[in-house]
Amino acid sequence: MTKRVLIIVAHADDMEFMAAGTIARMTDMGYEAREIIATNNERGTLDSDWSPRFTADTRREEARRGAKVLGVNPDVEFLGYEDGRLSETPLNELRERCMRAIRTHKPNIIFTWDPFTPYEDHQDHRSIGLAATEAASFSHFPLYHPEHRDDGLEPHYVGERYFFAKSPRDVNKTVDITATIDRKIDALCEHVCQMEMTVTDLQVQLAASGLDLPQLKDADRRDYRPLIDAQIRAWAASTGREDGFAYAEEFRRVRFGGIERFARTAGQELADDV
Ligand SMILES: [Zn+2]
Repeated sequence: MTKRVLIIVAHADDMEFMAAGTIARMTDMGYEAREIIATNNERGTLDSDWSPRFTADTRREEARRGAKVLGVNPDVEFLGYEDGRLSETPLNELRERCMRAIRTHKPNIIFTWDPFTPYEDHQDHRSIGLAATEAASFSHFPLYHPEHRDDGLEPHYVGERYFFAKSPRDVNKTVDITATIDRKIDALCEHVCQMEMTVTDLQVQLAASGLDLPQLKDADRRDYRPLIDAQIRAWAASTGREDGFAYAEEFRRVRFGGIERFARTAGQELADDV
C-alpha cells in the first residue's frame, strides 16, 4: 500500500539531519512525501555580511535540492514565519496552519520534532513540534476549524507519528538506514551554507575550548564534505549499535492511538513500514 508522508519542521535542514535515512527508505518503497518548513530560515548563518533576505533565499533553494535527493516532493511549502521567534506565533495559529496542511495532503504518517523531549534549546523546534502534534491529534475532529470545509478540506485521521529529538527520550523505534546513509549525507551536503556554517561552528568551539585538532583548525569550510560525512556516520553508527545496524536513526513513534493494544488481545500485530 502506498502511503503519504508529511514532514513538518521548523528549518530547511531539520528533516535531513534528523530523519533523512528513514524518509529515503519510505520514498524508495513508493511512499509520497512532502515537506513543510515553518520559518524563512533567515537567521541560519554565522556570516555577518549575509543579509536575512539572502540567507532566506539561499536556504529555500537548498531545502528544495535536499528534498529532491531524498525523493521528497521538491515543491517544499514554507509557512513564512520569522526564524528564531516561532514561539511568538500563537500556538492555535500555528496549529491551524498544520491542520490545514494535514487536511490538504492527507498523510498516513507525519514526522516532526518531539515537543515533549528535554534539553531542546531551539524555540522553533519546540513550537512547531507542539503545533504539529496537536494538529495531527485533532485533524479528524470536524468541529476543529470547520471553516476548512469551505475550502473543500475534509477532516483527516493521521495514523502514525515519528518524533525526532536532539536528546531523544522514550525511543521506541530504531530504523536501519544502512542502505540510505549515503543519500542522507548527499541531501545534507545540498545545504551548502549550513554545512559550511557547521565547519565554522566547530572551529569556533575548538578555538574557545583550547583543544588542539589541526585537521579541524586548518580545514577549509568549503571542503565540508569529509567532516560532515565523518560526523553523520559516527552519529548514525552509535545510534544503530544496540540493534546491530551499521547505521540508524531513532524515533519516538506513536501510532493509531490505543488500537495496537486492543488488537493484540485478538492476536493481531501491526506491520512495520521500515
Ligand atoms: Zn532546526
